[in-house]
Amino acid sequence: MSPLTSIQSRLDSVRQSLPGGVGLVAVSKFHPVDALRQARAAGQRLFGESRVQELAAKVAELGTDDYCWHFIGHLQTNKVRQLLRLRPALIESVDSVRLLEEIDREAARQGIVQNVLMQLHVAREETKFGFSPDELLDWFARRGFENLQAVHVCGVMGMASNTDDQARVEADFRAIRAAYDEILAMCPDLRGFSTVSMGMSDDYPLAVSCGSTLVRVGSAIFGPREY
Ligand SMILES: *Cc1c(COP(=O)(O)O)cnc(C)c1O
Repeated sequence: MSPLTSIQSRLDSVRQSLPGGVGLVAVSKFHPVDALRQARAAGQRLFGESRVQELAAKVAELGTDDYCWHFIGHLQTNKVRQLLRLRPALIESVDSVRLLEEIDREAARQGIVQNVLMQLHVAREETKFGFSPDELLDWFARRGFENLQAVHVCGVMGMASNTDDQARVEADFRAIRAAYDEILAMCPDLRGFSTVSMGMSDDYPLAVSCGSTLVRVGSAIFGPREY
């Protein structure tokens, strides 16, 4: 099988397994632009990258008209300006109020409105970034979003624990969805707060069954990454 056929067929099988209304981010980090072009030729337009430097290189080659970019990695405040200049459609990984405020300041400076998701931390691993459900609920209860000038909060993103224990993974996804539902119930006036981004190559079918609206799938489309 040529590489084209395999990216195309893997994309097709991921797509076929997603119910209508669930979006697909093809996570292309560590893969060459050629792989992205193949996915694009197979109809994929939305790509996810986790490092600003790498996103910049890919945007320089592929642009932002025919390709749509989500930033999904941990973002340092000193990279915000450079990232926003790349005009990502969505920053999925806002993991602190400080980062959110920096994005707001910089988006206002650049005269744009930046769409973001708030990243929830529910997994067991200590190393994962994000708000605890309580912290995030508290921020919404205090209506922190009303202070934003140039950021639109479109929903939440999260990851399940990295484990084979399916019950644990399911509990994590349910906790992410529950936090989202509570926020919406608490702030019914939130506009366009409609995205629950969860599910990766190994667990996206379970994430979808727990209420994901956007899955981020890398290796199941592009094969293993070479770091
Ligand atoms: C790398 C990454 C993914 C995709 O992981 P796969 O296991 O290759 O599907 C999804 N989300 C985030 C935040 C990532 O960093």
